[in-house]
Amino acid sequence: MKERILSEFSSRFGGTARCWSSAGRINLIGEHTDYNGGYVLPGAINKAIVAAIRPNHTQTVRLYSLDYDERAEFGLSESDLPERQWARYVFGVCREMLKRGGHVDGFDAVFAGDVPLGAGLSSSAALESVFTFALNELNDNGFDLFELARIGQATEHNYCGVMCGIMDQFASCFGKEGQLIRLNCKTLEYQYFPFDPKGYRLVLLDTCVKHELASSAYNRRRASCEQAAAVIRKRHPEVEFLSDARLEWLEEVRAELSQEDAMRAEYVIGEAQRVLDVCAALERGDYVTVGERMYQTHWGLSKLYEVSCPELDFLVTLADKQGVTGSRVMGGGFGGCTINLVPEERYDAFLLAAHNCFTAAFGHAPKVYPVVISSGAHEL
Ligand code: ADP
Ligand code: MG
Repeated sequence: MKERILSEFSSRFGGTARCWSSAGRINLIGEHTDYNGGYVLPGAINKAIVAAIRPNHTQTVRLYSLDYDERAEFGLSESDLPERQWARYVFGVCREMLKRGGHVDGFDAVFAGDVPLGAGLSSSAALESVFTFALNELNDNGFDLFELARIGQATEHNYCGVMCGIMDQFASCFGKEGQLIRLNCKTLEYQYFPFDPKGYRLVLLDTCVKHELASSAYNRRRASCEQAAAVIRKRHPEVEFLSDARLEWLEEVRAELSQEDAMRAEYVIGEAQRVLDVCAALERGDYVTVGERMYQTHWGLSKLYEVSCPELDFLVTLADKQGVTGSRVMGGGFGGCTINLVPEERYDAFLLAAHNCFTAAFGHAPKVYPVVISSGAHEL
């Protein structure tokens, strides 16, 4: 990919340029935990966006997207917002860097990637991070990795209209080969855990459906979580967020909660424990426990949190029947991908069954994305 991008750079702008890469991400476990002050466990993957970038000592940015075969050109003032959506990610990164007192020289860039778009692997964070990382180095800005992740997040908020958390940009910036990162969404403390599943493969199956996650469904779950936390807090003041609570404490107050709020809380509190269990299991290389917790998360999301859908439940049930070690929906739910931890000897049979059975049931095949945990943003 690097050669293709450099050759395109040379024919458009002449000469050569430095190249950077930044990756998409998966989240092994820890779903709907971020807004409950809990943990997530993401890692960067071997699908990335690569950019060749060279300062041009003007106040103008000239971009070429190889994948879209489109150009964009813009200045660096707030009023220079480009038309094209993909260019807004880069513009936003420049603006957020400037707002934080950084320097951004105009530049020429060519970029392309293989992170599937809109599949839940966060191609947008990869795009932001490759530019935050490169522009930080090219302009000697000295922002640390956390600040770079925040610049990416603020880009989504302020220039792309996506009110995301910090996980995606965090994973793109901090990712390391063979390591997952447990991030505490309340304190932003983080710790690396080894992910080296010998004899297993990690693969995502994309249902290619997105049932309308009316933002009302999401807001309603957030409200349930806040309500449950508030009721538990009356007896246990240390419960700032729902993830701080224990299951016993939920039982003490269950009668004071609606059935729906109690179900949501049971999932969230269980999920907090499952992330810890998975991290302990990773440290001893116990992938059977990792897989069990993935299934538990899935059925918690399906039965208690009620954010699954028939396509996702179908794939997870099939995975179980095919001897897959762990399987669950990844991301907010109502469609998107399942993430699967598959013993090597079951891999081909599982993919074949998924293709045939899913097609028979839903009329189209799931897309398949094998992934390996790899490094995040870096210069090539
Ligand atoms: P995702 O879940 O993959 O992050 P988003 O909708 O948040 O999905 O981001 C996808 C958007 O990011 C695309 O519509 C495009 O604007 C931009 N993008 C991602 N990858 C590329 C790429 N390879 N080339 C150009 N733009 C890209
Ligand atoms: Mg995105």
